[in-house]
Amino acid sequence: MCAGAVSTSMLDQLAATCENERCNRPLTEEECMLVYQTEYGQRRAYECHCGTVTVTVGRRE
Ligand SMILES: [Zn+2]
Repeated sequence: MCAGAVSTSMLDQLAATCENERCNRPLTEEECMLVYQTEYGQRRAYECHCGTVTVTVGRRE
């Protein structure tokens, strides 16, 4: 789901962690449910095993 829809740079892999402060575990590519592009950069939505959705903001190169 993560790869393919949007052309992503391999250099732009941000280390994301769960937004739930009780969880705070590192998120993996497998948990990336959605990638989309805005005029401000790439957003990635991760769904953690705890059920928290974390959205990261990537820089536009
Ligand atoms: Zn979590």
